[in-house]
Amino acid sequence: MAKLALETGKSNKILRTESRTVNDFSDPDLRKLIAEMEETLRLTENAAGLAAPQVGKNLRLFVIIPELPAKGARLPDGQESVPGKKAPTVFINAEIVKKSQKELRLDEGCLSLPGLFGIVKRAKWVKVQAQDEFGKKFKLKAEGFLSQLIQHEIDHLNGKLYVDRAEKMFKIEDDEIKEL
Ligand SMILES: [Zn+2]
Repeated sequence: MAKLALETGKSNKILRTESRTVNDFSDPDLRKLIAEMEETLRLTENAAGLAAPQVGKNLRLFVIIPELPAKGARLPDGQESVPGKKAPTVFINAEIVKKSQKELRLDEGCLSLPGLFGIVKRAKWVKVQAQDEFGKKFKLKAEGFLSQLIQHEIDHLNGKLYVDRAEKMFKIEDDEIKEL
């Protein structure tokens, strides 16, 4: 399985298009796309999440790395996550149903905007509902990096990029950081 090509650039048409809901969970193309996105994420350095528009598909789907501990994440039945418990890695038709008033200023980057990072305000925690690759619904409360990541990926599904929200942007050039 090969690494998929990434859509890049802040004016990229696919990245700027609102993605459509996934309805057909028995579609073999969906399963293939998920497997390819997972493989691409695995083979990409410093990557934690990948949304379908980033690989040229305007579908409401993103994947995140399995290594992410669901620290502070709460499972659907209200059970606290336990150390070693992992967050789901495939999010389809994900929606934020509730988020904290409290926001944090965080460093953020994106595979589709290489060489850049910015300071972005994100809700401290989010409650998300989504479907897994088989269409099964789940809910999750995410905090910390997982919360930031989910907000970033859902933005992708809505044609938004973190630069739209960034208070400051920086460029990394020859190992030097320059404010833009
Ligand atoms: Zn991104």
